[in-house]
Amino acid sequence: MKKIIGILLTAVMASSLMIGCGAAAGAKADPNGSKCLADGVLTVGTNAEFPPFEYVGDDGTPDGFDIAFIKAIGEELGVEVKIENMEFDSLVSAIGSKTDVAIAGMTVTEERQQSVDFSTSYYNAVQHVLVPADSTIASYEDLEGKTIGCQLGTTGDFIIEEIEGASNKQYNKAVDAVNDLVNGRLDAVIVDSNPAGVFASNYPDQVKDLNGEDFGFGVEEYAIALPKGDTALKEQIDLAITKLKDNGTYDKLVDQYME
Ligand code: GLN
Repeated sequence: MKKIIGILLTAVMASSLMIGCGAAAGAKADPNGSKCLADGVLTVGTNAEFPPFEYVGDDGTPDGFDIAFIKAIGEELGVEVKIENMEFDSLVSAIGSKTDVAIAGMTVTEERQQSVDFSTSYYNAVQHVLVPADSTIASYEDLEGKTIGCQLGTTGDFIIEEIEGASNKQYNKAVDAVNDLVNGRLDAVIVDSNPAGVFASNYPDQVKDLNGEDFGFGVEEYAIALPKGDTALKEQIDLAITKLKDNGTYDKLVDQYME
């Protein structure tokens, strides 16, 4: 009896893994235990609007730190990496249907953990506040009642929702919020530290880049979003991340892509 229950449980677990990895649905069990890797292709969702982590490169395809990093991970796992560029707000829900995993400077949050698992984290960031060069905004209280832009569905978006009296303007691309800031339509934009630096550097005389630590914003950890319950995949991706950090590949990519 025990044995039968064991077999049944294994079958249930196997089928739930199959559901959790739609991009490889129907594939045979892979020797390493993850259905996502069974067809030799890891389909990766991203939103190439977040430099230096992901952006559309000169050849029209996604490039950036995250893209190079996931390709290096794919090499470690012995699978081909296929990048799917989509809206940031769709990345989590696409896992298990359109994609296997997502890499997009994505912060680990409790809410996202209801739907997906996360790899070990690979980067720390904090939200920054972009303001016009002549703005007097300098503290969290100064943001109250202001018109603030962000990218839809991001941690910056969630922060603005909590600011007393603030009017939250959500954009599909953070760069569009920055353009509206420069055009005088917004008082501030809240966006992650590294992209904030890149966007501000495009407007050195018009935009100030303020560190969100001075506004009380906490440290955020970026990780790869994974199908819930695919522990074999998580194990292999975590191992690959550790290896790439140990063997200097990670530092090389930081040097190559970060300002
Ligand atoms: N780190 C932020 C988040 O996870 C923003 C990511 C992004 O816009 N690509 O919500």
